[in-house]
Amino acid sequence: MSNAPLDTIISLCKRRGFIIQSSEIYGGLGAVYDYGPLGVELKRNVRERWWHAMTRRHDNIEGLDAAILMHPTVWKASGHVDAFNDPLIDDKVSKARYRADQLIEEYIAGLRHKGQDARAETVHQRFVAALHEADPCAALHAIILEEQIRSPASGVCDWTEVRQFNLMFSTRLGAVGADANEIFLRPETAQGIFVNFNYVREVSRQAIPFGIAQIGKAFRNEIVARQFVFRMREFEQMELQYFLKPGTHMEAYERWRDERRQWHVDNGVRPERLRFHVHEKLAHYADAAVDIQYQFPIGWQEIEGIHSRTDFDLRNHAQYSGKKLEYFEPETKESYIPYVVETSAGLDRTILMLLCDAYREEQVEGEERVVLALHPRLAPITVGVFPLVKKEGMPELAHRIDQALREQYHSFYDDKGAVGRRYRRMDEVGTPFCVTVDGQSLADNTVTVRERDSMQQQRVAADQLPRFLDDQLRAWQPPA
Ligand code: ATP
Repeated sequence: MSNAPLDTIISLCKRRGFIIQSSEIYGGLGAVYDYGPLGVELKRNVRERWWHAMTRRHDNIEGLDAAILMHPTVWKASGHVDAFNDPLIDDKVSKARYRADQLIEEYIAGLRHKGQDARAETVHQRFVAALHEADPCAALHAIILEEQIRSPASGVCDWTEVRQFNLMFSTRLGAVGADANEIFLRPETAQGIFVNFNYVREVSRQAIPFGIAQIGKAFRNEIVARQFVFRMREFEQMELQYFLKPGTHMEAYERWRDERRQWHVDNGVRPERLRFHVHEKLAHYADAAVDIQYQFPIGWQEIEGIHSRTDFDLRNHAQYSGKKLEYFEPETKESYIPYVVETSAGLDRTILMLLCDAYREEQVEGEERVVLALHPRLAPITVGVFPLVKKEGMPELAHRIDQALREQYHSFYDDKGAVGRRYRRMDEVGTPFCVTVDGQSLADNTVTVRERDSMQQQRVAADQLPRFLDDQLRAWQPPA
């Protein structure tokens, strides 16, 4: 199955109104993107499906929408002020800046690609050990020099030292001046959930185990921000923190890992392009962590992390705030600080995955057809409505059908150009159904409905369209 290069997806996104670089008329802002008319619909649909799967389907999961700006001590307690760093290194010749860990990972992947598996394994072992050293920067630097890893930009091995770089964006609260406080744009949504643990539990009267779900913006001053919406400086996360009794966390961790993978499969993503990747080095807060990775055109990459965060966050917030963040278990009359299993997905990365996975180029009757085989419930437009020709009352009937369908679906009226071209335009943005009003429609009020993947057409009574489309949506299976 073809895997289109990332450039093809980027160009489609720009051309058809999915995603464009922020402030493009000023030359763009690095790693910040805007969603256009179709992108925003796709994004809303993905968000809605996640929200539905997490909150509506689980009676023990509550929603939250916490603010982006938080008390500065939150980030001290969470460890982000001290430990939310990337090791960066500069190529002295080209001045290009890289993440030292990524340079080594790419070097190891290169060795494997060349069939030098034993050597790759040795470097890999050293790499894992370096991440656990007291001074990982020095250890990573040593590997880069000893292996003579070259800069992709200049092709030479002339590097600076490796330095830690904090990824949080800071700003100032209040009047600028001596008394203004430095605060941060949140680098993850999770902390808004932790600090509201007591509040949400009390108002919802939930007992452990229960979860809090949130979707919102996060900000990271990424050093190497390439690869379109895969790595952005402003992005959106969809996170669940699931609070549970210590000792039950591994079972919940495994269950959420599988449930979250299944969610992506249910969205139509090809299962063979998804895999689990267990973390080499655990973050400061975790006792187990696994990524769900997707096989992007740029290789296997993380789309979602499942982390067992122990009681790290609640314990630290309790300590820093002086408030008790505990759960009293009525059955045993004991209090404890709950453990947490977190599922953290990037909304933008999920969208990039869906676009890459859905993209197909096919030959149809000697012509190329580009089609996005998106899940019909995620597609930005559900149904295109066309009059076959712009006369004989066909546009009027098509407009009426379009208006009626808009109550339930995102419907789109189009009467420009030959009908075959209109189908192609809808295929390219993933519209699962196209309704065409023709001469016969005027006589018997039936229309043709063309399905995107099979390109099959059926005649359906116009007044039965909502029910017909509903049945089709329910029965949809991803094309092979
Ligand atoms: P990476 O190793 O790729 O930087 P991470 O391990 O730091 O990611 P998490 O902190 O676990 O990522 O964040 C959870 C999810 O948020 C990720 O799986 C990803 O989908 C998304 N995410 C994280 N950073 C970015 C970013 N800069 N741009 C877009 N999405 C991101």
